[in-house]
Amino acid sequence: MIRSYKYRLYPNRKQTEYLGEMFDLFRELYNAALQERRDAYQKCGITIRYTDQAKQLKEIRRDIPELANYSYSATQQVLRRLDKAFAAFFRRVKNGETPGYPRFKSRSRFKSVPFVFGDGAGIRNNRLHIKGIGQIKVKWHRPIPNDAKIKQVIVKCSNNKWYAVFQIELPDPELVEHPGPAVGIDLGLSSLIATSDGHTVEAPRHFRKTEAKLRRQQRRMSRRRIGSKRWRKAVRQVTKTHAKIANQRRDLAHKISKVLVSAYSLIVFEDLNINGMAKSRLSKSILDAGWNQLITFTLYKAEEAGSTIVMVDPYNTSQACSGCGSIVKKSLSVRVHHCPDCGLIIDRDVNAAINILHRALNPPGRGGQAPTWPVGAYVA
Ligand SMILES: [Zn+2]
Repeated sequence: MIRSYKYRLYPNRKQTEYLGEMFDLFRELYNAALQERRDAYQKCGITIRYTDQAKQLKEIRRDIPELANYSYSATQQVLRRLDKAFAAFFRRVKNGETPGYPRFKSRSRFKSVPFVFGDGAGIRNNRLHIKGIGQIKVKWHRPIPNDAKIKQVIVKCSNNKWYAVFQIELPDPELVEHPGPAVGIDLGLSSLIATSDGHTVEAPRHFRKTEAKLRRQQRRMSRRRIGSKRWRKAVRQVTKTHAKIANQRRDLAHKISKVLVSAYSLIVFEDLNINGMAKSRLSKSILDAGWNQLITFTLYKAEEAGSTIVMVDPYNTSQACSGCGSIVKKSLSVRVHHCPDCGLIIDRDVNAAINILHRALNPPGRGGQAPTWPVGAYVA
């Protein structure tokens, strides 16, 4: 089982400078290798491969001593990355697509450098040691498990912040019998999620605040003249707030998925890929993407916790009555499901969550609902 653990890095001023130089050098190496492949193909019709370019690496490192400061394998990885770009390009050509030829990378498109762990990058004195850079302070906000084998570390820069992403291999978990009950989850509009056993989770206040801030900043940006100094400033603010929202959303998705897999043995979600558009079109909320993230996080956490995840067709889950199966039409503003046929009065999202659970548990045809099991179901 492979996992990624991401940590914020705090390089000092000198290290920041060195990191910038390393990224520049690696980028130049990438672009030069791309140029070589291009020229060889255009001028002589020759295809240059990774092995050809890797053979020259020793010489290049002799000619450019700055490059030799860094580990050999890290420079190899740069060439491999180019090779991957070409492989993807040729694969798409073969499939009859018309992909763009691999492009030269500008600074803004070259933002990560991978290292084989233990080869040019490692952990020393509780810091990230990178050959040619030094020992960089890391905020270890969660420990890397003791039984983990670190395979790779990717140094990243985004929004002027530095990060290290450790790719670790963990032993596969033993299969355990989960003692908890089953639950259906409605991915909500007003509340974040509703569960079939009657819980609703609201979007935290700080989340809504950031959303409002983003809308304000977007309006401000659109009022300004494109390309102007003030416009650029507004763009920077919007980018920053986007990043903040993404962070908050990821945090929240981690928290909710953790609770779900520890409490429930069977978790049923709506399959957003089926018919899910009807719902998400109504909500231009930035939570849309968060739903997919929540499902993804729950899926991989379920593996360890021994929970099972099932996805069902979301068709009519909010309109059907979970008590008797009647279709009770209601607009989005109606928050309570009130069934004229059986008299059930219940929160609309909880009603939907119960329908979602039923769809996974009940045999097809019941209550006039479309048979969905086991269509679209998969087990983590
Ligand atoms: Zn009813």
